Amino acid sequence: MKAHQPSYIRVSWKKRTLVITLLLVIAIGAFLIPAAAQSASQVRVVFIDVSQGDSIWIHDQENRDVLVDGGPLSAGPTVVAYLQSQAIDDIDLLVLTHGDADHVAGLIHVLRSSIPIQAVADSGQTCSTDTCQTLTAEMVKRGLTPTPLTAGQSLEMGLLKIHVLNPQVLLSGNDNDDSVVLRIEHDQVRFLLTGDISATAENRIMSAGLPLQAQVLKVAHHGSKYSSSATFLATVQPQVAVISVGSNSYGHPAPETLQRLSDSGAQVLRTDQSGTIVLLSDGSTFWIAQAPFQVFLPLLMRDGSSPNPLPTATPTPNVKITYIEYDPAGDDVQGEYVKIENQGGASQTLTGWSLSDKANNNYTFPPFTLESGQWVLIWTKAGTNDAQNLYWERNQAVWNNDGDCAYLKDNMGGLRSTYCYLGATP
Ligand SMILES: [Zn+2]
Repeated sequence: MKAHQPSYIRVSWKKRTLVITLLLVIAIGAFLIPAAAQSASQVRVVFIDVSQGDSIWIHDQENRDVLVDGGPLSAGPTVVAYLQSQAIDDIDLLVLTHGDADHVAGLIHVLRSSIPIQAVADSGQTCSTDTCQTLTAEMVKRGLTPTPLTAGQSLEMGLLKIHVLNPQVLLSGNDNDDSVVLRIEHDQVRFLLTGDISATAENRIMSAGLPLQAQVLKVAHHGSKYSSSATFLATVQPQVAVISVGSNSYGHPAPETLQRLSDSGAQVLRTDQSGTIVLLSDGSTFWIAQAPFQVFLPLLMRDGSSPNPLPTATPTPNVKITYIEYDPAGDDVQGEYVKIENQGGASQTLTGWSLSDKANNNYTFPPFTLESGQWVLIWTKAGTNDAQNLYWERNQAVWNNDGDCAYLKDNMGGLRSTYCYLGATP
């Protein structure tokens, strides 16, 4: 059965500028998020902006996490900070598509971080660059040994079915063409991740006869002109094509590839234009969500060997629960409130965010923006919302006088802040 597609994907985007289309899609996507966030089986696929390189994080609502590549060395701290900002508990599967530095050098930072990693898989290629040697040493320290993947293998993880389409059993000897290619299924929504393969490998995959159709295509090799042939695109039939690319000297993405993608009817999204790109699936439809925020952290490089400068620091919001008045004098309903502060350097839209307690009582924010340095009180009682007071409008108390926790989640369900009192544990 063909998956139902949200109507905004069908917007005649070719006639408009990319920017206008993107804004439209983001606006409608943001509108859909609060309802969709309730879905019991949501999958999030995030193309992290790592400049020139790839890093793709797949997260399902059963808390399974797959990380495919980690970008160049300069992006390693960004990848780690992004995953930590999303409160990732562990990486269940780390996939190294191939040994090129723009895909795996950033993983050195991931391996040196505190994020637990359960398993590693790769293409089985021999790689003896300095980057690969350092990666191997870091994996040895963690007791991890990569499992080589080959076409025809499948694995099930939580809500995900992962099919391996490449490399073939006999490696070609070309490191790009031996990239791991994965087709990730969330029920009827499919994501095809193609590493850096060229049309040569695309042809081999097509002749192997494994299913290729996918609504979302991670465009191979940053939009190289030698990849994404018209025949391959006609077989995949992507509705959205994501190019992970930054400033480079290879001419990526190539104008002829952009043309072929456009001719295929796919909507093209680029990390160099949109930053981090977040797609959400409920198993029958998918939509584009706005990235919650950009992570640009001026962290020092531990290796000191990157030729690329770190991204410049950009002010980011930092929204936290800082106080709960759980046992006010008088009536709890009338006096209870939660204080939320924005301690960061930029404003934050809280529209569609939620505040909940341990008993799963849930408040959803109305359209609201919290400016940098400002705070807002979320009162349990009824009232008229203003810039510093929002009202839950309950006739029962929320916050347990014997201890409780408050959880602040963004409009994609990402946990942003936890506040516990009287010894309660999250
Ligand atoms: Zn690459």
